[in-house]
Amino acid sequence: MQRDSRIFDLIQLELERQQHGIELIASENFVSPQVMEAMGSVLTNKYAEGLPGKRYYGGCEVVDQVEHLAIDRLKQLFGCAWANVQPHSGAQANAAVMLAVLQAGDKILGFDLSHGGHLTHGSPVNFSGKLYTPSFYGVSKESGLIDWENVADIARKEQPKLIICGASSYSRDWNYARLREIADEVGALLLADISHPAGLIAKGLLNNPIPHCHIVTSTTHKTLRGPRGGVIMMGNDFPNPWGFTTPKGEIKMMSAILDGAVFPGTQGGPLEHVIAAKAVAFGEALTDEFADYCQQVKSNAQALAAAMVSKGYSVISGGTENHMMLIDLRTKSETLTGKMAESTLVKCHITINKNAVPFETRSPFVTSGIRLGTSAITTRGLKAEHMPLIAELIDTALTHHDNQFVLEEVKIRVMDLMKHFPLYA
Ligand SMILES: *Cc1c(COP(=O)(O)O)cnc(C)c1O
Repeated sequence: MQRDSRIFDLIQLELERQQHGIELIASENFVSPQVMEAMGSVLTNKYAEGLPGKRYYGGCEVVDQVEHLAIDRLKQLFGCAWANVQPHSGAQANAAVMLAVLQAGDKILGFDLSHGGHLTHGSPVNFSGKLYTPSFYGVSKESGLIDWENVADIARKEQPKLIICGASSYSRDWNYARLREIADEVGALLLADISHPAGLIAKGLLNNPIPHCHIVTSTTHKTLRGPRGGVIMMGNDFPNPWGFTTPKGEIKMMSAILDGAVFPGTQGGPLEHVIAAKAVAFGEALTDEFADYCQQVKSNAQALAAAMVSKGYSVISGGTENHMMLIDLRTKSETLTGKMAESTLVKCHITINKNAVPFETRSPFVTSGIRLGTSAITTRGLKAEHMPLIAELIDTALTHHDNQFVLEEVKIRVMDLMKHFPLYA
């Protein structure tokens, strides 16, 4: 067959885009060559509906071992008692959990999307807000922090069946122990979605939700630096053969309910090539090198936040404890918007995303904020000492956003910097 040069030429262009630029999108990262190798393997040819040892198809002896390895490594990484590595994405993992423990119309309580939460935590445009009845907690206007007693008050008033913690743009750690007390008080289950900080949690740099939350979901492609995908984990809240009463009133094992909610509940055949890549990434994440990487991600985020503050920008909550920060542009300039910042920086090969800030006054398509994360640039090899330069490049571009000459100059400086940090050379 003829090589599909139209597509492979585009893939080459995308490789060059990634190589030239400063990648500051907080949810992105660069996987290792062996993670990509596993994803581009013959495992993509295999149907394997079901679980290792209990498949609906023949010929699964090899993929069974692959999936077993992924599960075992994930358990070791987070110290969880049970895991399912089949969710195709973070959203799919959350859909499966909600299908497992809720009935249509049940109340859920999540972190407000406009304060940093995720669409799958009850947004009206998402299944979670359409099928269930959401309410939300947010950050305090003064501190930019979540007030756990405020969460308790809302939970007492709303009496949700499920409390969801975790975020897409919150730069602080979570008090899972306090949230579990709140969940127990109102008789709710507690779900932690650690999609963003999973890598830092695995290496002990942030609180681990496993001992406190009934169920934990995550993506595998953000700070965890694996292939695009999702996972579901549990600690010891539902030890076998402890029963859980399903929304339909049947008494079953929670692990079986969750497995069934992934397949056949919300998915068909698992992506065994991606599960192999997850196993490779979990193996990498178990190393001391990955601990050094996560420590550097965190140091870089703190250095970048400090550098942005020194340029006159304000960081929501005053700083960061993880890999990312949310910047409110309004203190720098009344007219600068998230949309303008995003389109200006992309011209300079700096990739970021516009982001609503808490108590946002502009539309979600414009916004007053930007979100910056250091996972990807840390994989490239950048250190804390490079963060003032990055802040200076961002500030120069934003200050002169209508000056093509300045933007061109910044772009050249960005490409010069990144030449020293080869990617997939
Ligand atoms: C990224 C993210 C997800 C969704 O992951 P996808 O793989 O894009 O579906 C879910 N929850 C949170 C908190 C996230 O940040």
